[in-house]
Amino acid sequence: MRILIASPEAVPYIKTGGLADVAGSLCKEYRGMGHETCLILPLYKKIREDFPLNDTGLSIKVPVGERLVEGRIFSHRSSTYFLQCEEFFNRPELYGTPEGDYSDNAARFIFFSLGLLEACRALNFQPEIIHCNDWQTGLVPLYLKTLFKDDALLKNTVTILTIHNLGYQGLFPAAEMSLTNLGSAFFQPRGIEFYGKVNFLKAGIISADILNTVSASYAREILTAESGFGLDGVIRDREKDLYGVINGIDYEEWNPSKDVLLPAYYSRRDVSGKAVCKKELIKTLFKQGNPEADKAPLIGIVGRLSEQKGMDLVIQCAPELFSYGVRLAILGKGDDTIQRALLTLADKYNSAISVNIGFNDRLAHMVYAGSDFFLMPSKYEPCGLGQLIAMRYGTIPVARATGGLADTIQDFDPLKSSGTGVLFHDYTHYALLEALKRAFCVYTDGRKMKKMIADGMNMDFSWKSSAGRYIELYQDAIKKGRF
Ligand code: ADP
Repeated sequence: MRILIASPEAVPYIKTGGLADVAGSLCKEYRGMGHETCLILPLYKKIREDFPLNDTGLSIKVPVGERLVEGRIFSHRSSTYFLQCEEFFNRPELYGTPEGDYSDNAARFIFFSLGLLEACRALNFQPEIIHCNDWQTGLVPLYLKTLFKDDALLKNTVTILTIHNLGYQGLFPAAEMSLTNLGSAFFQPRGIEFYGKVNFLKAGIISADILNTVSASYAREILTAESGFGLDGVIRDREKDLYGVINGIDYEEWNPSKDVLLPAYYSRRDVSGKAVCKKELIKTLFKQGNPEADKAPLIGIVGRLSEQKGMDLVIQCAPELFSYGVRLAILGKGDDTIQRALLTLADKYNSAISVNIGFNDRLAHMVYAGSDFFLMPSKYEPCGLGQLIAMRYGTIPVARATGGLADTIQDFDPLKSSGTGVLFHDYTHYALLEALKRAFCVYTDGRKMKKMIADGMNMDFSWKSSAGRYIELYQDAIKKGRF
């Protein structure tokens, strides 16, 4: 099959969140399965600095409103392409700074969406399917059905849109509609208008041949007003085309028995190296030694510091948590208010909490390996990768039972001594504290703890079955497109 993955980020090139892991891993998996797979990304400044790229010599001209914006196609290895446009992508960040989103994001991702279709023409690549991801590529399916509907190369290409997070929709002022060149007829509720704004994700939802999100539970949740971010009605109209393929993780990148970023290797057969990782993590993050505290549970958090991730609950329950003698290691980046609140806690309880603001792959690996528990009290969680990585590293997830967290973690049952993590339901700090107390009971019982670690490490969250499921969906979409 000829597949094009259109994504605003992908590992190993550039990453701000789980989408990058998913796009990069899927490409790798498909290529391993023998599918002809291209990946297209914007050429951000950081990619340019970090990777030796080839200039294909091919250029594209993309209409953005009344302007014709020029871009150039770069490549890495044989089938990853980058759309270069100095004006739009030669910037330090991907979507914005802590002060807010870049003000020309509509123009930037119109350029990317139309540009990647132009790039197919320039490269003479005829994908049977384009896999779009999130709002940044939401316009692609609509462009294929409108501006490209008679295109000799792309008229039979079908599309799938994976929604990685419905909370991010690409909303822009009505005045930016003209930049899309789709015509004002589309600016209406049955089109891409959304309460007086232009909605790029909605463009994909109404026009992709297949819709997907990243867990079965989240696929159900986004049909409800409570979790639909105002788009639940539009998604309900497409319910029969909606799927929920769970994400996997790259088992080569995330492998504690070979992970060069760790101070010691370990595996499910011999987990002794994990204690070395914990010791080293404590040494790195908590400068002054404390033999008593070193024996206590260490809770890790790695992720975007946003309201979605339940950081308000963490901040609320932290003082009580520290009174039990446990330690908290946080690595993350995001919302300024949350960052400040966490740093204030770190000032007050410096021997109990380590707050590390920033994006740091090495430290992330160390936290996954060196913690006893991994905390994800998310308000909502489409899939979540942190809990999958944690289980692979023998770290027990404590999480709220929502979306992909509910689908991938089996709650601990003390009677049967079974389960791979500890789940809680109500979005309150009391419920979170109760879950943590249950987790600490397991911690004090060596046998139970060992079994839970082993059960988590025995789970299979590799991409094999999900990549196979995606291929089936692609085949269905192609068949549907033909008849
Ligand atoms: P998101 O909602 O951000 O996509 P996921 O759990 O799906 O959340 O994926 C987040 C991914 O990004 C995981 O691989 C996680 O380890 C990684 N990550 C998040 N924040 C950081 C950070 N500050 N430093 C390093 N890795 C991070």
